[in-house]
Amino acid sequence: MGNFFHPMTEQASRTLRQCICCAYAIEKGERYCKQSGVWEGDYCTNHYHTACWAALLEEGAAFEFTPGEGDPPEGSRSMADARAALKSTSPDGGSHG
Ligand SMILES: [Zn+2]
Repeated sequence: MGNFFHPMTEQASRTLRQCICCAYAIEKGERYCKQSGVWEGDYCTNHYHTACWAALLEEGAAFEFTPGEGDPPEGSRSMADARAALKSTSPDGGSHG
């Protein structure tokens, strides 16, 4: 069984996600790079900041980086900060069953 990856796609995020490269938040509505495929028999999907992915490509390290150790793009927030911000902007916590 070989490894297989779909082509990278770029789209606006419909929800809060975490960049696998820098581990910082990809905010709702922010454009990000998404790649899915099969790696050593397991299906996986990775999300990257567009800037993180561009930097990895530049370094030629697209598949050889340590997750969470990349430099976050300027202005990025940690997952904890982004989650807190989402909560504080939801009028009623967003729970409707
Ligand atoms: Zn990132």
